[in-house]
Amino acid sequence: MSMQTVGRLSQPVVTGTSDCVTVSGSKGLLQREDLLFEVGAANQTGVDLPGLKNRSDRLGGVRRAQPLQLAGLSEPQAVRHYVRLSQKNYAIDLGLFPLGSCTMKHNPRLNEKMARLPGFANIHPLQPESSVQGGLALIDELADWLKRLTGMPAVAMSPKAGAHGELCGMLAIRKALEVRGELASRRRVLVPASAHGTNPATAIQCGFTVDEIKADARGRVDMADLELKLQQTDDIAAIMLTNPNTCGLFETDIKAIADLIHAAGGYFYCDGANFNAIVGRVRPGDLGVDAMHINLHKTFSTPHGGGGPGSGPTVLSDALAPYAPLPFVERTEAGLRLVENDCEESQHSFGRMIAFHGQMGMFVRALAYMLSHGGDGLKQVAEDAVLNANYIQVRLKTVMTPAFSGYCMHEALFSDAFTAEGVETIDIAKALIDEGYHPMTMYFPLVVHGAMLIEPTETESKQELDRFCDVMTDIAARASRGHDSLLTAPVNAPVKRLDETQAARRPVLKWQPPVNEAIAAE
Ligand SMILES: *Cc1c(COP(=O)(O)O)cnc(C)c1O
Repeated sequence: MSMQTVGRLSQPVVTGTSDCVTVSGSKGLLQREDLLFEVGAANQTGVDLPGLKNRSDRLGGVRRAQPLQLAGLSEPQAVRHYVRLSQKNYAIDLGLFPLGSCTMKHNPRLNEKMARLPGFANIHPLQPESSVQGGLALIDELADWLKRLTGMPAVAMSPKAGAHGELCGMLAIRKALEVRGELASRRRVLVPASAHGTNPATAIQCGFTVDEIKADARGRVDMADLELKLQQTDDIAAIMLTNPNTCGLFETDIKAIADLIHAAGGYFYCDGANFNAIVGRVRPGDLGVDAMHINLHKTFSTPHGGGGPGSGPTVLSDALAPYAPLPFVERTEAGLRLVENDCEESQHSFGRMIAFHGQMGMFVRALAYMLSHGGDGLKQVAEDAVLNANYIQVRLKTVMTPAFSGYCMHEALFSDAFTAEGVETIDIAKALIDEGYHPMTMYFPLVVHGAMLIEPTETESKQELDRFCDVMTDIAARASRGHDSLLTAPVNAPVKRLDETQAARRPVLKWQPPVNEAIAAE
């Protein structure tokens, strides 16, 4: 082992506050971890093969002249590096993950077991159709559940995330307008001010312009503003509306909104990322929706974030179904088949979004989740998600400021009105890290000042909710007193308070080798 790395430990390293100093930089049983490049050395490696002899160079003069500059490591060094990093991670398997608009919920182990069954895990998209009938049947059955739960006649299974599902829905709308001969004239997509950033981005990506609709004092679409925008126009392509919206509120005027958009000749895209709050209770198809993506990694418990991948099947109304992307599964007399190419039933399809049929591993997990809950269980999922969020809202509303009055749906939204001068949302988020929690969603949605959006999900117990609320109550009390301790948080984390401006403006993204002092002196 190289002495350089050990030599680094001779200086006491300050971790946390000044009364918490260790010689090693480690804390508790968590070891200090340096970058791979700092740990390894070029002449150190896990393999020890003799160099090749008497081999003529077949690289035609393009042989690398300099070493590759990768860190040389033994296998234990590499293993420890990544395990130590993983210990610094926060995960849904460690504790409540309060991020709102994200639905970070427990990933049942049963789903994982099902996805690892060799018959699902080992099939390949290029296998003959006759040998993957079970896989196709699973996709078809999941599609059937999604259609029933949403009350929609068709679903495109291939989109690979929520935003990809938005793209699918908006491309179907675009194609429908093209077939109507109105694509050139209908350019405008209405997007409420509280929308997730992916909504306007998708509209722009599809070549539309975005027109923002105001939120009213109740946190819902401002109907007067919407009506104004729809007056005497024939340039509306669609509205993209999230329901429940990103303020955690049900859009109570949703049917009137659908009617207004349809009367104006446009389509209704519903962002279904928050379907978790209403699954089994409300069918979007009954609300006049034309297209809606469903995040299997939110509503249906498939792993999220770094543990993904995501999956964003998109349900379509009768008006948009003919334009659905290829491929899709079809039941025939002879069995199931994947419709891959243009044919009579797909002559209007807007095309193909991905190489194969979609995220098979996620399909297996989502269907396992549905079957293990059943229809009544899924309804209870929504009810418990809403109950848990309201429990948090009620417990915290005496110390924090709810953004809107009344009950919320699956997430509780607070503004920073309760904080003392000089204390901001970010200080509260950093203090949560010291208390062992990943911060809530902050500064989103933009319509609420210093927004703090908290979504517990249905899988949290009352004990966990109370533990989180106790922590939040203490932090909120300090925030309203303007307590200095918040301004330096986090003090217990491996990385302390960052200079946010420098971190955003001048991020250090690349490791630079230390300047060799001997060479530099020459
Ligand atoms: C998560 C989310 C999206 C995007 O979904 P991804 O799967 O992350 O692409 C879109 N809209 C809302 C409201 C969301 O919460």
